[in-house]
Amino acid sequence: MYQAFLIKYAEIAIKGKNRYLFEDALVKNININLKQVDGNFNVRKENGRVYVETEGDYDFDEVVEALSRVFGIVGICPVIMIEDTGFDDMAKAVIDHINEAYPDKHFTFKVDARRARKNYPMTSMEINAAIGERILEAFPETKVDVHHPQVMIHIEVRPLINIYSTEIPGPGGMPTGTAGKGMLLLSGGIDSPVAGYMVAKRGVSLEATYFHAPPYTSERAKQKVVDLAKKVARYAGPIKLNIVNFTDIQLYIYEKCPHEELTIIMRRYMMKIAEHFAKEDGCLGLITGESIGQVASQTMQSLLATNEVCELPVYRPLIAFDKNDIVAVSEKIDTYETSILPYEDCCTIFVAKHPVTKPNLERIKKSELALNEKIDALFEEAIASTEVVICKGE
Ligand code: ATP
Ligand code: MG
Repeated sequence: MYQAFLIKYAEIAIKGKNRYLFEDALVKNININLKQVDGNFNVRKENGRVYVETEGDYDFDEVVEALSRVFGIVGICPVIMIEDTGFDDMAKAVIDHINEAYPDKHFTFKVDARRARKNYPMTSMEINAAIGERILEAFPETKVDVHHPQVMIHIEVRPLINIYSTEIPGPGGMPTGTAGKGMLLLSGGIDSPVAGYMVAKRGVSLEATYFHAPPYTSERAKQKVVDLAKKVARYAGPIKLNIVNFTDIQLYIYEKCPHEELTIIMRRYMMKIAEHFAKEDGCLGLITGESIGQVASQTMQSLLATNEVCELPVYRPLIAFDKNDIVAVSEKIDTYETSILPYEDCCTIFVAKHPVTKPNLERIKKSELALNEKIDALFEEAIASTEVVICKGE
């Protein structure tokens, strides 16, 4: 029924000379997501527009679903495209469209015609009036409202005639890959996949690091994180996931450091290792799912202590989010059901009964001196034994 989808984008339209880079990234990302949908699609740029043209049969809902995961898109308009074979045919196409798309005809409407082809024999105003009349004749239940119409019928006279009246919201944001790369610390929880999604939405491509602690954490816990990375990759594009065996470092910290400081010291080593991979692969920052006050290791004092080991900026998109708000996003992006699977996490296993909530940085650093003998070797070993999995959206 619809021969094309007109893709509306907002922010990328204002990027001056860089505009084509953003549009090219948008076109590329649309193509990637449409690969998962059956059908023939041609994505093309035309005068500041992006169109997805369809050829033959396709599943409308699947196409819309795939497009609504492409960052940078603010609106998806299903378009009827016809050859210009005269006014009567244009009017008939509009009537047929309304007939099919709106079972209940009790609505107000306005016709908004535009001509890119100025040699068309009618002015835009004349098209508006004449099409409006035809609609009122065909569907007497409808009414014209030029100020606040319920349905806006767009007619664009271009090489072809485009007719559309609905705009399905897209995810917004910027095309992934236009803003550099970030290293996400991805756990199996609710927060970090949401944090990755949010930063990716600003155009950042993602790499990820996960710390596991076999045999204390299971293969299933690891698979859960791979599954989460694949879910985030549906939006963010393929994610290289570094799976770090953290057991020996955790046991060593457990043996040598005060137990109430375990979580903070562990978090500091996680950041250091993630930063190592980040630098190696050209990431411009670290990303975590931390939020002020959520747990003992996320008070401002704890965040200060964790942050202190990093040279790269640490992006914490959820810093001021309440848990409810984070859960709402995770449901929207379909990571929630995976995140709540009850597999053990490496942090919870070695967690102290009464962790410090206001760690003192100098005291933490002093406690870490007890690790001097073996920690460098363990650090090297953890890096050398890291497993890499490329997670693609599915
Ligand atoms: P999440 O729901 O994402 O697990 P959380 O509320 O459980 O977060 P913490 O366990 O304190 O919070 O972790 C804070 C952040 O540290 C996480 O959002 C994540 O970015 C990172 N992190 C924690 N554990 C791991 C892990 N095992 N591997 C990788 N990153 C981790
Ligand atoms: Mg966690």
